[in-house]
Formats: sequence, C-alpha cells, structure tokens
Amino acid sequence: MGYKDAEKRKEYSRKYYAKNKEKRKEYDRKWRKENPEKRRKYAKEWSNKNPEKRRKISREWLTKLRKEALDKLGGECINCGETRPYVLQIDHVIEFRIRDKKRSDQDRGYMLHLHIVNDTLDENEELQVLCANCHLEKTNLKGPWKPPWD
Ligand SMILES: [Zn+2]
Repeated sequence: MGYKDAEKRKEYSRKYYAKNKEKRKEYDRKWRKENPEKRRKYAKEWSNKNPEKRRKISREWLTKLRKEALDKLGGECINCGETRPYVLQIDHVIEFRIRDKKRSDQDRGYMLHLHIVNDTLDENEELQVLCANCHLEKTNLKGPWKPPWD
C-alpha cells in the first residue's frame, strides 16, 4: 500500500467516525444499559490498572461537586464572608444531637453535596456555609446550636 493510499484511508476513517459519532454514542449508551455487570467489571479493571488516574478523576469530581454545592448555598461564610472554597464547610444550622435525630444517608460523605446540587435535599434540612474558623467557633465556643455571633 502506497503512502497516498494510507493517507486516503486515514482520511476516510476519520470522516466515517465523525459521521457515526452519534450512532456510536447511542450504541455505547445502549450497551451500558444492557450490560451493567460487564460495565462494572470493566470499570473495576480499569481503576485497578489506573489507580493514579482514578484518584485524580475522583478528586476532581469531588472538588467540582463541593464547589457547586457551596455556590448553591451562597458560596461564602455567612459570618465573615470568606470565599475560598477549600476552607468553606457546610454546616447544619441545628445540629443532629440537638435535634435528637440520627444522621441519615443523605448526610454521609459527599451525599449531602450531591443532594444539594441535585435539589433532592430533605426539605427540613437547614444548611449554611461557614469557613473552618467560624465553624469551629460555632461548635466550640457558644454551644453547638448557636453561632457565637448571634
Ligand atoms: Zn468565617
């Protein structure tokens, strides 16, 4: 096969793939839906083979999720106005031990952030954004249910 032919073939397959992008996407979607077991297996194999990439992806995903959730709640500490996302925390206005209520699934790990972003939060949940400093103040100085600046 000559050089020209190889070029032509490459060009042809490039066009072919571009044209069928949607079809392939659709096919992938269908495959994923119909093969949840295989999909899980492949995903697991991939992440076992690529621990670094996996960590990076989940880190980025979490950072983005946290930022989105914080933005949705105002994006700054309600006491001092701090806006650096890595020092901001989501605080339950009324703490669980005061409410005499167990932590629910929706409060575990990043679930809370997911619920905030997806608007699926329990409607009784009252949340506020505090920076780490103000959060500590609230928790340690004046009792857990009332911020010291009230
Ligand atoms: Zn603050």
